[in-house]
Amino acid sequence: MEHPLHLFGYCPRCGSNNFGINDFKSKKCHDCGFVFYFNALAATVAVIFNSRGELLVARRAKEPAKGTLDLPGGFIDSFETAEEGVAREVSEETGLSVASCEYLFSLPNKYIYSGFEEHTLDLFFACKVTDERLPRANDDVEQLYWMPLETIVPEQFGLQSIRKGVTRILEMYKK
Ligand SMILES: [Zn+2]
Repeated sequence: MEHPLHLFGYCPRCGSNNFGINDFKSKKCHDCGFVFYFNALAATVAVIFNSRGELLVARRAKEPAKGTLDLPGGFIDSFETAEEGVAREVSEETGLSVASCEYLFSLPNKYIYSGFEEHTLDLFFACKVTDERLPRANDDVEQLYWMPLETIVPEQFGLQSIRKGVTRILEMYKK
C-alpha cells in the first residue's frame, strides 16, 4: 500500500525535500525534525425522517460520486462540535433547521478530493428538523427527495460509508 502522504514531497515547515517516511501514518523532516501525521478527518451524516417516516435523500451535485444518492452532511470545521457541524451542513444543503440531533454510529471512509485520498470518520446523527416542508437543494446537493424506506436501495448510494450506513439505517428503522 502506498504511504498516505506520498504526494507530500516537501516539509511543510522548512520546505526541505528531505521529508521521509516516519511510519505508516506520518512523515518526518530529516532537516528540521518536523513530524506530520496523517489522521482521519471528522465528518457528519444527517439521518432525517419526516412525519410519514420517509428519509431525506440527496443527489450529489459534485465529484466524487457525482449524480449518485447521498445523505446530507460534510466535514466538521475547526472549533465546531459535531452537533453544530451536522446542523450547519443540513442548513447549507437543504435549508432545513435542525432542532435536535442524536448520535447513532460512525463509519470510516475514503474520499478522493483534488487527486488526494482523504480518510474520514463519518459520524451519523439522527436529526429532527423544525419544519419538514420545502427542503431546498443547495451547495453540494443537486436534488432532495423524501424516500419511503421500502423504496431505498443502498447500491444507489455512491460513497462507500454512506452505502453501509444506509444499510444499517434500514435495519434499524424498517418495519
Ligand atoms: Zn523541515
